[in-house]
Amino acid sequence: MLSCRKQLISRLLRRQASTLARGGYVEVQEEQGQPLKYPQVWLRDNCQCAECFHAATRARKSHWERGPINQKVSQVAYNQEKKQLEILWQDKHKSSFDLAWLRERDFGEAARERYLSEVYKPRAEIWGKSEFEAVRREFQYEDVIQKDAVLKDWLEALAIQGFAILKGAPNDVNVARHLANRIGYIKRTTYGDVFEVKSKPNAGNYAYLMTPLPLHTDMPYYEYKAGINILHTLVQSSSKGGANTLTDGFNVASRLRKDFPEDFEVLRTVPVNWFDIGHDGDQAQPFHSLWRSPVICLDVDGAITRINQNTTKRDSRFSVSMDEAIAWYRAYDRFLELAQSEAVEFKTQAGDVFVFNNLRMLHGRTAYEDAPGNKRHLVGAYVDWDIIYSKLRTLKFPNAKD
Ligand SMILES: [Zn+2]
Repeated sequence: MLSCRKQLISRLLRRQASTLARGGYVEVQEEQGQPLKYPQVWLRDNCQCAECFHAATRARKSHWERGPINQKVSQVAYNQEKKQLEILWQDKHKSSFDLAWLRERDFGEAARERYLSEVYKPRAEIWGKSEFEAVRREFQYEDVIQKDAVLKDWLEALAIQGFAILKGAPNDVNVARHLANRIGYIKRTTYGDVFEVKSKPNAGNYAYLMTPLPLHTDMPYYEYKAGINILHTLVQSSSKGGANTLTDGFNVASRLRKDFPEDFEVLRTVPVNWFDIGHDGDQAQPFHSLWRSPVICLDVDGAITRINQNTTKRDSRFSVSMDEAIAWYRAYDRFLELAQSEAVEFKTQAGDVFVFNNLRMLHGRTAYEDAPGNKRHLVGAYVDWDIIYSKLRTLKFPNAKD
């Protein structure tokens, strides 16, 4: 029987979970269902006794400079009355774990996946041009401000679909700020805490074509790039054009990964210097922002986690080899071609607040005629995803304790 030590301690047979310690693990078999299995080192590390764990602050107490790796289970039993797993360790330390607590920390793949998608982050659902109407979500501004359930739905839409539109906001320059505060905290940047986009009526008496704003993400030149962009339309131009454009950058990157894997690899690995030098904001401090990062960023699981694209903020200093630079231009051109082909157009109206994930969505504006008397006034603000996910979890799990 190999070298593992077998200790079947508790087996009162009926209506009882059985336990087993062997090979560095502890197994718990409930009456029904899959066996639960935990590494002994993990159990000792997460001992819930007062000596090892400070319940009021939900904090592990660090008694082990280098971790509890050498402590082994001496005896294990299931206490039916308390519904607890009880462990006696070889150094005579005692631990007990609620079965419900253990179940929530199941190492099984399905349980881990459930925790990651329900508690950690909702899974993004990528979409293309043809699916835009189906994924488009609208909420009433006042409902978001007053009802927690609507706030939760809105934040989930931002996490899943990547954008949402709020209707019926008042003609008030503080709307974007109110929404940021409703989530948590506004993100201050080198442009201040809110920013205004205001076009004055054209002084000339002939129509003037404002050039289109190509698809981009804001602030690729920040390591801590703004998570969402809240854009409140107070006054919309009545002239032709001036529509918002939007593309799901995760969708574009996914298509590139599938159809043009070499281009994907180039955009994932070649770092670009993104920069911004200037003088703005309420503090009027000069700034020199610089962040070196690829167009497509992946997380530790290989999922697309951030898109950087802003032609106007891309440094002419390209700190890579010439061969890499040449390959990058080809891949980048393909990426932008795909992004353009998947872009949707819509025009926000006064009272609309267009909010989108700035790590994921590329946004822009079509050209418009700036005619005499034409006005356009937007106020924007940013919030970081750390703040948004935190708010979303407090709304979904108001009683979470550990
Ligand atoms: Zn302990």
